[in-house]
Amino acid sequence: TRPQIEAAPLTGDDPAPVGVEPEALPHFVDGARWAGTGTETHPVVNPATGRPIARVMCGTAADVDQAVAAARRAFAGWRQKTPKDRADVLLEAAAVVETHAEELARLESANAGKPMPLAREDVAGTIDTLRFMAGAVRAQQSASAGEYVAGHTSMIVREPVGVVAAITPWNYPLLTTAWKIGPILAAGNACVLKPSEQTPLTALRLAELLADVLPAGVLNVVTGDGPVVGEALATHPDVALVSVTGSVRSGQAVARAAAESLKRVHLELGGKAPVLVFADADLDAVADGVAFAGFGNSGQDCGAACRVLVEESVYDDLVARLVFRAEALAVGDPAEGDHIEMGPLVTQAHRDRVVGFLDRAYAEGVRAATGGKAPDGDGFFIPPTVLVNIPDGAECTREEIFGPVVTVETFTREDAAVTAANGTRYGLSASVWTENARRAADLPGRLDFGTVWVNDHLAFATEMPWGGFKSSGYGRDLSAYALDDYSRTKHVMVNRTR
Ligand code: NAD
Repeated sequence: TRPQIEAAPLTGDDPAPVGVEPEALPHFVDGARWAGTGTETHPVVNPATGRPIARVMCGTAADVDQAVAAARRAFAGWRQKTPKDRADVLLEAAAVVETHAEELARLESANAGKPMPLAREDVAGTIDTLRFMAGAVRAQQSASAGEYVAGHTSMIVREPVGVVAAITPWNYPLLTTAWKIGPILAAGNACVLKPSEQTPLTALRLAELLADVLPAGVLNVVTGDGPVVGEALATHPDVALVSVTGSVRSGQAVARAAAESLKRVHLELGGKAPVLVFADADLDAVADGVAFAGFGNSGQDCGAACRVLVEESVYDDLVARLVFRAEALAVGDPAEGDHIEMGPLVTQAHRDRVVGFLDRAYAEGVRAATGGKAPDGDGFFIPPTVLVNIPDGAECTREEIFGPVVTVETFTREDAAVTAANGTRYGLSASVWTENARRAADLPGRLDFGTVWVNDHLAFATEMPWGGFKSSGYGRDLSAYALDDYSRTKHVMVNRTR
């Protein structure tokens, strides 16, 4: 029998809101469901209830071999297509996602604990990414030709790299999938995708939904964990490039494994985004921004607004507003309805990890101005938490907590604020909040982060690149830069005199 992944209507009374047969869901390889060679399975849990909603296969290295072989076969045909042909396919794919938008949003919400409005935004972002990449690849492919050596015509040709492995995290399972497969497929590559073992449902469903649109083997999904499936992809001789969104530790493991065959690596890793707030800033806007970007998705965001650095004169005022906004957020099981603004953390283990950060912070003298303690009951919740009274160099200001925890520190001089903001191994994103035009223009250039917002945080444009500096990795998602990352550049030189 073929197990079905179906999203049932979510209601507050339904303990298992996604109707999935208990049998493990198979991989998706070569255009069809495939049970694979392994026997072990992995539970998929709804983090808002703690209850299992599905099982998936734990993939093996042999499964990866099969998927890579299917991708290689598909690549031979896919690479021959014109940019317009591939764009047409991606536009059709976007239309299929749009038709199934609500179903995908529900599935994502149930698997990742995302509030429904956020899950719908992720689906909208998925559609927009596919559409953008469809258009961008047609604009990109124009080859330039010129004479640089007498009698010779030189051409720049942009080619796909081959089979690309895409490894995604649990915090934006569908959106990170789209940010990878959009440019990977648009550029003419074939893909083997390994979703997070915790949140594989939307990627599996997406592959299935696109089966009628994409040629078989162009997109394959192998579920399983990092050290087995991820490692097999990173070391596979027929994989040309591995693209990972995840933690620094996983990025390092993949880069090390990929070094053996010198395959290319694209890394979108962790962050610890500073939020620089000057006394002249609109503090209500800051509080709204932090409520959205610090607590949205339960703070499980690589760009989360998690480290507020505020000018001392407005510290009390800002903390009061942050506490007010944090306490006003509707926290609960996203299945209760669209009014829920913040859900649980993704797993029990991850909640334990965040509680560990909090306990160590309290031991360092840090105090919670609000929240700060995991409640009893079902689901992996932690309330929106604002930490104050923070000693210099405290762990909670250095490490990525990845929970609904915002720290607030003070500064008195602009230079000190910039130094503190840059004093992290991460370099993904930062924000500056000020009404001062000179500062708004000057500070982004002095901040060592791949994205700097002024009077905003976590605003995205599909046309603009997303990616980090330093330990946050290298490579860019979104924009035409992503297409470049999944392409290779060839010089063809023709001697016209012979
Ligand atoms: P994770 O590193 O635990 O897992 C990410 C993926 O890597 C998973 O699919 C996992 O199975 C795989 N993986 C783990 N070990 C591996 C190995 N040895 N070889 C190959 N693959 C391996 O990350 P997570 O906990 O799922 O996600 C949270 C992390 O992701 C945070 O650090 C967050 O900042 C980061 N993130 C970054 C961005 C970005 O755009 N920069 C976006 C979202 C999340």
